[in-house]
Amino acid sequence: MTDQQSKKSESQWKQKLTDEEYHVLREKGTEPPFSGEYVHYDKDGIYRCAACGAALFSSDSKYDSNSGWPSYWKPISKDAVKTQPDNSLLMHRTEILCGNCGSHLGHLFNDGPQPTGQRYCVNSVALDFDQNSEE
Ligand code: FE
Repeated sequence: MTDQQSKKSESQWKQKLTDEEYHVLREKGTEPPFSGEYVHYDKDGIYRCAACGAALFSSDSKYDSNSGWPSYWKPISKDAVKTQPDNSLLMHRTEILCGNCGSHLGHLFNDGPQPTGQRYCVNSVALDFDQNSEE
């Protein structure tokens, strides 16, 4: 199901995604806190990239951070998510991006639960829940 043509042009992304998805995934936008459909979602399954379909997070590592965004203490695999420094808005943050297509997902913080102590803070808009996948 993963979209292997991950090197789409921005006009192709614009056609494929809703305006809200495009703003978050391709323009590094942030949805308002507590607005997303997966903030308090607790079904068992896999969260995929809303742009390309790559598996990003398992419900096994989802937890309630009370931040207003879906939060995970680890990605589903080592290469599922990549990180880069984000110094916008006069802050030093770590951006997280889809390892497959490079779309913006959210940010990584160091205030998560054990065993990793990390919080992958992700926009619901950047995710598609997949209840039936075992990947
Ligand atoms: Fe992706």
